[in-house]
Amino acid sequence: MSASAVPLWKQVLRQNFTDFTKLADFLELSELQRQAMVARPRFTLNLPMRLAKKIAKGTLDDPLLKQFLPSILENSIDSSFVADPVGDQLCRKSSKLIHKYQGRALLVCTSACAMHCRYCFRQHFDYNITNKIFEEELLLIAADTSINEVILSGGDPLSLDNKILSELLQSLASIPHIRKVRFHTRFPIGIPERIDTPFLDMLKSVPLQFWFVIHCNHANELDADIFSALKSIQKLGIPVLNMSVLLKDVNDSVEALKELCTALVDHGVFPYYLNQLDRVQGAAHFEVPEARGIEIMQKLATELPGYGLPRYIKEISGKTGKTIIV
Ligand code: SF4
Repeated sequence: MSASAVPLWKQVLRQNFTDFTKLADFLELSELQRQAMVARPRFTLNLPMRLAKKIAKGTLDDPLLKQFLPSILENSIDSSFVADPVGDQLCRKSSKLIHKYQGRALLVCTSACAMHCRYCFRQHFDYNITNKIFEEELLLIAADTSINEVILSGGDPLSLDNKILSELLQSLASIPHIRKVRFHTRFPIGIPERIDTPFLDMLKSVPLQFWFVIHCNHANELDADIFSALKSIQKLGIPVLNMSVLLKDVNDSVEALKELCTALVDHGVFPYYLNQLDRVQGAAHFEVPEARGIEIMQKLATELPGYGLPRYIKEISGKTGKTIIV
């Protein structure tokens, strides 16, 4: 395939930083600062150039750097932080289907992401995805008429080529009881080029109600290109919502969350959930005490309109729904 035949988003994806030394050089980190990082982490480094360019140089004290650069704190042992904090394995109906909640089933479409977030609750997930065929999952979904919504997750479903996505969506649309498909994606935040004309045309061609849930934790992640990509989805009548994770030294302040929620709402994106950190192995240093989260939310409620205020929630392994904290 010639370079010009490769979609732009794939060309941009190839510019991701995956080598620690190259990224540390780009960010002008000192030797001492590099020693606070893991050069070859088990959950590999993966950071889009767009996000790397937004990180302040020569400091470790940046809300984006903290989300994507592997700190040596990841190696600290805390037995209450486990490989599967949300009980995915308990609800796994096949290698790619998780059925936890009433009416909804989640397809683990791929293990690939546009970026690797150090707090990701699926960073230890045994993906066991040997192909991109969803035959077994489609049969399971078709056999269960209680399911009306399919959540495309992963990994990031937008890592899949349009051809595979299109076949999957058409198959889902042919199941009479499936009315909605929800994308859970962080792609537009790192590679907004993914929301291109062929992708939008594909969405237009499928007779399903779509929902988009993006994942953004800090206003510094956002820019005009990202909002423009989201606008093109909104123009199709597709609601766009945002999910954040409450993260220590990233967004654990009223100011940071107010700035984020305001930027989202100003562009028609609904702040949907603020998740308490899932206690995944290697992420203990990101945890904010729940009492502090409640305090932040109570103050936020006095500063934002109701529609701009996310619900503060947590996921408890074995429970069949999110638990609302505030
Ligand atoms: S994009 Fe989502 S699935 Fe991928 S590493 Fe980040 S949080 Fe995990």
